[in-house]
Amino acid sequence: MSLFAQTLKQMEDASNLLGLTNDAQRILEYPERILQVSIPVRMDNGEIKVFEGYRVQHSTIRGPAKGGVRFSPQVDIDEVKALAAWMSIKCAVVNIPLGGGKGGVAVNTRDLSNRELERLSRGYIRAIAPIVGPKKDVPAPDMYTNPQIMAWFADEFSMLQGHNTLGVVTGKPIEVGGSAGRGAATAQGGVYVLDKYIKETKGNPKTAIVQGFGNAGYHVARMLHEKGIKVIAVSDSTGGIFDEKGIDPYAVHTSKVAHGSVQDLPNVKKIRNDDLLALPCDVLFLAAKENEIHKDNARSVQAKIIVELANGPITPEGDKILAQAGTVVIPDILANAGGVTVSYFELIQNEMNFYWSEEEVQERLKVIMEKALDEVLDTQRRCYSYSELDNTGEYIKHAKQPDMCHRITLRQSAFIRALQRIETSMKLRGKI
Ligand code: GLU
Repeated sequence: MSLFAQTLKQMEDASNLLGLTNDAQRILEYPERILQVSIPVRMDNGEIKVFEGYRVQHSTIRGPAKGGVRFSPQVDIDEVKALAAWMSIKCAVVNIPLGGGKGGVAVNTRDLSNRELERLSRGYIRAIAPIVGPKKDVPAPDMYTNPQIMAWFADEFSMLQGHNTLGVVTGKPIEVGGSAGRGAATAQGGVYVLDKYIKETKGNPKTAIVQGFGNAGYHVARMLHEKGIKVIAVSDSTGGIFDEKGIDPYAVHTSKVAHGSVQDLPNVKKIRNDDLLALPCDVLFLAAKENEIHKDNARSVQAKIIVELANGPITPEGDKILAQAGTVVIPDILANAGGVTVSYFELIQNEMNFYWSEEEVQERLKVIMEKALDEVLDTQRRCYSYSELDNTGEYIKHAKQPDMCHRITLRQSAFIRALQRIETSMKLRGKI
């Protein structure tokens, strides 16, 4: 199943539970706008190389489209459409007045020099300039893009406009209109949600595993370590490391920056990525990429709680297997929404040209994340699904008999909250 088809299935699943009108569902099945661009770049050796890029605006019913741009060899239009749709849902889950968008360029940034990367970044924003802007669509970092690339985007776009338009992108360096706290925001949001969930359920996690050691993975490992939760294993695309006595995330970070991989840390056991997912632990953070837990490895997962910091790290089949096993999944559209929430703060600060302290950013982020979790838990409590899972993981529909019901998952509940909000906006604006 394609990634966009997976997203639509999640939406349909929640729509059915919610009894959403077919009209709203049909509208959300189609992105509002898709732009495909070619970006010719003069390489350092004098040759011209042409890269393919996209920008998808899935929905602007609740505000300007918002979402990152990824530079990765796997980028294709299907992936970008799926990620854009998740952004519409995510912004509605945390109730920030933004829609959903996403962009991407098919490129392996490791093959480019810094100058080539700058020319590609400037070329991409020039190509999509007609459809972006602080009130239209606001890109941000995603996989393999960073604050420096956002600074080039903002600079190029400002030159085209003839005046500083820093609010065209978020995730910029603080010195050029970035927000305090944006770098760690995705991880921070995930930790606020987990903390609140633990408080509500009276849990007491002692061990954690972090899959992926990019921006989100490193910051979350650091925060867990600081809170006294033992990080027993971490991984990146090259493999993982395990130490039941606990791993120091700062040491892993330093060694990865110096040598390139988490496995370069001395005196720890090296493990394969699939082994990492199967280790017993209280909380597993998925901070790598899509489709990491699927029907073939979901049964081996032993974590009690999974927090999705990446977008779409569990396939729908994997999700059902985990639900059957009673594993709690705090879904991406809630757990990683801290990033886009602080992006929203950045947009506000750019608009006001008045900047907040890191403490102010964190305080506001905490309020939004905790409220979103409360609402999702509340919906889960009140909304039972009139269906159950059979042993292949398929839903079997039953008549509306409460004793045949099982509790909906947090993902279904988050989708329901978001779709309710989107549908209300559509109705009030007279679209349906
Ligand atoms: N790329 C991030 C995400 O998937 C952040 C998006 C943003 O800040 O607009 O949520």
